[in-house]
Amino acid sequence: MILPNAALTNTFGLQVRAKQFVQAHSLDSLRTALVEAQRSNLPLLILGGGSNFLFVAPQLDAFVIQPALTGIRYTAIADNDVLVTAGAGEVWHQLVLASLEQGLCGLENLALIPGSVGAAPIQNIGAYGVELADCLVSVQAMEIASGNLRHFHKTELQLGYRDSVFKRALKDQYLITEITLLLHRQAPLKTDYDSLAKELAKQAAAPTSAQPKSGLTARQVADAVMAVRRARLPDPAVLGNAGSFFKNPVVSNATANALLQRYPAMPHYPQPDGSVKLAAGWLIEQAGMKGIRRGQAGTHESQALVIVNLGAATGADLLAVAREVRDTVQQQFGVTLEPEVWIIGATL
Ligand SMILES: Cc1cc2nc3c(=O)[nH]c(=O)nc-3n(C[C@H](O)[C@H](O)[C@H](O)COP(=O)(O)OP(=O)(O)OC[C@H]3O[C@@H](n4cnc5c(N)ncnc54)[C@H](O)[C@@H]3O)c2cc1C
Repeated sequence: MILPNAALTNTFGLQVRAKQFVQAHSLDSLRTALVEAQRSNLPLLILGGGSNFLFVAPQLDAFVIQPALTGIRYTAIADNDVLVTAGAGEVWHQLVLASLEQGLCGLENLALIPGSVGAAPIQNIGAYGVELADCLVSVQAMEIASGNLRHFHKTELQLGYRDSVFKRALKDQYLITEITLLLHRQAPLKTDYDSLAKELAKQAAAPTSAQPKSGLTARQVADAVMAVRRARLPDPAVLGNAGSFFKNPVVSNATANALLQRYPAMPHYPQPDGSVKLAAGWLIEQAGMKGIRRGQAGTHESQALVIVNLGAATGADLLAVAREVRDTVQQQFGVTLEPEVWIIGATL
C-alpha cells in the first residue's frame, strides 16, 4: 500500500515526510512498488533503517521504498561451515545475535551496528577490525529498471573501505533483496583492535560467573564490542546521530609525509597501494571542532567524527555543522573530508 505524506524516522531524530512511501514485504510487492515509483515521476529513494541519512529538508519529494523482506536461513555446507542467508529487511544486529545463538562466529565484531541487512553491503559495514567483506559470499539484488533479480558474487562488488560498486558504477541501479554470508562453528577470533583488546583484557581481569573459565568465545567478543560501542558512541535514541559523519580520508604518501613533518603525532595507516589513510576524528579534534555547539547541532564531545542533534536541530542546522567541520579541517590540513552519511536535499 502506498502511503502519501508518510512520516519517516531516522537516527538523527529528524521529522521527515515523504511524498510517497511503500514498505515491500515480498519480491512481488517490491516489483509492483518499483513500477509505481516509475509512474509517479518522483525520484526513488531506498530506505533501510535510516541510520546513515541526513535529510536536509523536512519534506522529502521522493518515492520511498523500504525493502522489508525477512527470514534467515542456515545451510551447513561442511562440518565447520554454514551459509547464512538473510532478507534485506532483517535488522543487522538481530542477525548478529541470531548467528551467535546458532553457535556461529564471524559477525561478533559487527555487533550493534544500526541498520538493516540490505544496507550492509552498500558501504561494506565495518568495525573493530572486521568488515562485511570478510564473510560475505553473495548478494541478491533486484534491478530497479526491470525488476529482474541478479546474483552478485562478492568479487563483483568491489568492496572497499566504506565502499562498494553500489556507490559507484551501479549506483541507483539495484535494490538489495538478500545477502549470503559464510560463517563458521570455529574460527580464529579477531581481537587485536586496540579498544576491543583493552575491553577484553578488562573483562578477563574481572571475570563474571557466566563466563567460561578458559577459551574466549565469539559471544564474549560480541559482548566486549557492545560494551565498547555503548561507552564510546552516543545512542541515537538519546542523542540523534548517524554514526561517523565523515569517512577517514585517504591521501597520497607525499601528502601524508608533509603533514607528518608538521604533526608528528598524527595517526596514519599506510595502505597496500601506497596511499595513506588518516583518522578523520583526529583531524577534526586537532582543528578544534570536537564538542562544538551551534544552537541545537554540534559534534559529540568524545567522538569528534559524530555530528549530533542536541534535541531540536533541523537538517539544515546539522548540514551547517558538517560544512563548518569540513571547511575548518580543509583550512588547517589541506585535506578534504568526504561524507560517509547520505545527504538528501543538498550537497556538502
Ligand atoms: C550510532 C551509529 C553507529 C554506526 N556505526 C557504524 C559502524 O561501526 N560501521 C559502519 O560501517 N557503519 C556504522 N553506522 C552507519 C550505519 O549503521 C550503516 O551505514 C548501516 O549499514 C545503515 O543501514 P540502514 O539500514 O540504516 O541504511 P539507510 O541509512 O536506510 O541507507 C543507507 C544507504 O543504503 C541504501 N540502502 C538501504 N537499504 C538498501 C537496499 N536494500 N538495497 C539497496 N540500497 C539500500 C540507502 O538508499 C542509502 O544509500 C553507524 C550508524 C549509527 C547511527
